[in-house]
Amino acid sequence: MHLHSPEWQTSHCGKGRSEVKRREFLGCMAALTLSGGGRDAGAAIRDQAFRRVRPGESGWPSEVQWQRLGKQVNGRLLRLRSPFDACSASESACGEVFARLANPYEIGDDPALTQTLGWANAWTTAASEWAVAVETPADVAAAIDFARTHRLRLVVKGGGHSYQGTSCSKDSLLVWTRRMNAIRLHDAFVADGAPASTQPEHAVSVGAGAVWMHVYRAVTVEGGRYVQGGGCGTVGVAGLVQSGGFGSFSKGFGTAAAGLLEAEVVTADGTIRVVNAHRDPELFWALKGGGGGSFGVVTRLTLRTRELPETICAVFGKIRARSDGDYRALVARFMEHYRDHLFNPHWGEQVVFYDGSVMRLSMVSQGLTREAAEAAWQPFLDWLAARGDAYQWERAFSMLEVPARRLWDVDFLKQNAPQVIATDSRPGAPPENFYWAGDGGQAGQFLLAYRSAWMPAALLADGPRDALVDALVAASRRWQFALHFNKGLGGAPAEDIARSRDTATNPAVLDAFALAIVAADHDPALPGVPGHEPDFDAARKEVDGVDRAMHSLLAVAPRAGSYVSESDFFERDWQRSFWGGNYERLLAVKRRYDPDGLFFVHHGVGSEAWSPDGFTRLA
Ligand SMILES: Cc1cc2nc3c(=O)[nH]c(=O)nc-3n(C[C@H](O)[C@H](O)[C@H](O)COP(=O)(O)OP(=O)(O)OC[C@H]3O[C@@H](n4cnc5c(N)ncnc54)[C@H](O)[C@@H]3O)c2cc1C
Repeated sequence: MHLHSPEWQTSHCGKGRSEVKRREFLGCMAALTLSGGGRDAGAAIRDQAFRRVRPGESGWPSEVQWQRLGKQVNGRLLRLRSPFDACSASESACGEVFARLANPYEIGDDPALTQTLGWANAWTTAASEWAVAVETPADVAAAIDFARTHRLRLVVKGGGHSYQGTSCSKDSLLVWTRRMNAIRLHDAFVADGAPASTQPEHAVSVGAGAVWMHVYRAVTVEGGRYVQGGGCGTVGVAGLVQSGGFGSFSKGFGTAAAGLLEAEVVTADGTIRVVNAHRDPELFWALKGGGGGSFGVVTRLTLRTRELPETICAVFGKIRARSDGDYRALVARFMEHYRDHLFNPHWGEQVVFYDGSVMRLSMVSQGLTREAAEAAWQPFLDWLAARGDAYQWERAFSMLEVPARRLWDVDFLKQNAPQVIATDSRPGAPPENFYWAGDGGQAGQFLLAYRSAWMPAALLADGPRDALVDALVAASRRWQFALHFNKGLGGAPAEDIARSRDTATNPAVLDAFALAIVAADHDPALPGVPGHEPDFDAARKEVDGVDRAMHSLLAVAPRAGSYVSESDFFERDWQRSFWGGNYERLLAVKRRYDPDGLFFVHHGVGSEAWSPDGFTRLA
């Protein structure tokens, strides 16, 4: 069994854009700002001079003021230093730091690190100056009040898995939620303020700093239920839910955001609020997919839990076609087969296309018996078998069956499929700290390029499907890419589509059969660290390949939307791309709950009003 391995969840990162594109991006941000964003002229003039302070500048808090904050948060104020500072001391010390990056839990437990180290020509990981290792909403409120009062750049980090670098900034104060990780199951949850007639639901309340692997253990292994979260087990709960969020089985259960019943959140004014469909409903809606780090600091989330299916089946295989013509026929046959047999709530994960000749299957089902799962593939296997040596299995077709309750059970996995997991290797690490071996390569990665596009389900119909197949084949000749079927909700149950519609995510997700992801990445590397620099020259070709492959795909999906957390750092039309027609509504929420822009992230709601580093309000 190879669950969220590269076979199941490919790592997709990439290297830089051209400087020209970067300039276009900055120009575009300035133009958006000048075009108004709805702020009145007086506010614009008043704010012209607003700039956040950096260490050493006048206005930076004195040691006494920091100490006062430290007391207020019961000693949970930390002075941060980047572990990479060791690189200026000695090569061996530096090597040790890079070695630690192999363990995603170790990265997650260091407030000065991020899971992705950077993105070529976009951003590089940086430690905040100070962090509050928050344990209570009051700690969060104290940090927020302090940042607001002293004009500090505030950053929020949970799991630290932002590809876009939105949970780190130099010269900032970090709210680090890692220690807020309590998990509590409910048999009959009713949101605060709900009408008396509201039906109680099964739910789970999770501290904002928890990671999905621990939530699945509590909900599924121990509780026998299912909660829709992410695929990668070390992703943070609050970051993923605010992204919208997809796991392997989202085609059956909707986005993670759609399962949010209630959240506790501290807003820019320092108020601790419990928000849901009845209390602060607009803020609640914005937290469901409006992007992390823009509306407040979430401290607790309560998510609906669902009945657990009996069985999970995983399908693997890698097929090589003999000729270009055979490859086109293969892709055409597969897409038809997908439409007829797999385009339904049961099937998720991905198919990877490469080299103009190879297709890799890495899919999973939930809620089907093994017999039913096998039957769903038989027509495709028969078609291949009837074509003799036109197709060769480079990896034989195989299917694995797992009792759903054991999917995240480390003891079961250690016994039955030790090769699919890796564990936190630190002495004394809790046994539940494990991750899919195939995800290990993403720890400490440096991105070169990353683009995604929601592919409309209308392309699966007879007729349009021909052009789709042409686009898939053309793209595969340019760069490897994957169709993530679980990240498009076309084919999902009507009830789950309706719930996902009531979130801030671009409604394009509802009609998409898949999210296409094209990316390129680099092993752990950091610009400016001798011996560990990314190879920018070699990477240029990769960036070009990614762009050209996406260009081919967009030929059949022009103006396709993109998943906010798995998208291009340089996306120009990001407001429309991430949120579609929901953007104006999100901006209204932002103005109401964070009128002065305390919360800033790259390409977050309202970020047009700020310089790219979030320090200066643009006039
Ligand atoms: C290796 C890897 C695997 C991934 N796998 C998946 C996947 O399977 N499915 C999927 O849908 N996505 C996936 N993603 C994308 C991921 O869901 C998003 O990047 C998500 O935002 C990460 O959340 P985090 O808490 O781990 O990251 P962080 O970097 O800590 O946070 C991400 C953003 O959310 C904000 N934030 C974090 N906590 C809070 C809080 N408590 N209150 C307010 N804002 C907060 C941060 O400020 C930041 O802007 C993956 C990313 C990586 C790097």
